[in-house]
Amino acid sequence: MQITLSQFAGFCDGVRRAFDIVDNLEDARIKKPVFVLGSLVHNKDVVRRIEEKGIKKIDKEWFMRAKEGEIGTVIITAHGVGPQIYGLAKEKNIDVIDTTCPKVIKVQRLAQAYSKRGYAIILVGDKEHKEVKSIFEWGNGRATIVSDREDLKNIHLVQSEKIIILSQTTQSQDFVDEVYKFVKGKYPAAEIADTICLATNQRQGEVKKIARENDAVIVIGSTESANSTRLYEIAKSLNKKSVFIESDEAMPECGFFKGVRKVAVTAGASTPDWIIERVVARLEGCKNSLNAV
Ligand code: SF4
Repeated sequence: MQITLSQFAGFCDGVRRAFDIVDNLEDARIKKPVFVLGSLVHNKDVVRRIEEKGIKKIDKEWFMRAKEGEIGTVIITAHGVGPQIYGLAKEKNIDVIDTTCPKVIKVQRLAQAYSKRGYAIILVGDKEHKEVKSIFEWGNGRATIVSDREDLKNIHLVQSEKIIILSQTTQSQDFVDEVYKFVKGKYPAAEIADTICLATNQRQGEVKKIARENDAVIVIGSTESANSTRLYEIAKSLNKKSVFIESDEAMPECGFFKGVRKVAVTAGASTPDWIIERVVARLEGCKNSLNAV
């Protein structure tokens, strides 16, 4: 069995940056207690590692309710937050360690700028995702969010309105193209800004290739991770023998690989290298045991 590891598997630049900032915090300089607003990375191993540093996860509601002094420092994750959080942090005298990915900041700033210029914003993305909520807030709540085809029916704009289409950085290029085609057909003056992250594009392009060229595909990532889920959906649509696992512990039994000549491994942007290495090591074990039969 030939095992191929995707060249784009694992932490993207934005997640690596966020992880490195937090992993290298100089304890003495930080105002305590320190909290992270949501999951820094959608991965249990990483969350555990951060907790071991005494940094606990809180949600937005907890942050909003906290009284002055209850939070010394808040870490903002790579997905970003809306302007209200920065305002509240200032009001409550909370220090901010901001790990928002620069590519997410770009979409937030575009939403803010287009909203100020009076544009109606169509935001292609998962309504429940933190990044989308943050972009929505920076756009002053002026966006219509399109998460699936059904949502296209909810686009009711005036022909004379200026329209801009923005997207969550991890959206599927195919879906964004589909939305653009639909909106442009209805509102010919609509514009689009390319806000899909290159890391996402590369991964999605490559997963199509490896799903076609291999007999089985393993996608490593959390179901909470938008980009990992998307990778799995693409792989599964092209290769029925695709599996989605969070870590080596969820690996299928070696029997699953019986008759598989080529298997590819890829991983979402929130999957740390050490988990990818453990999955590949397990696969090597299966390869050896199947060869021995
Ligand atoms: S996927 Fe792209 S936009 Fe998202 S955190 Fe990674 S580098 Fe940033």
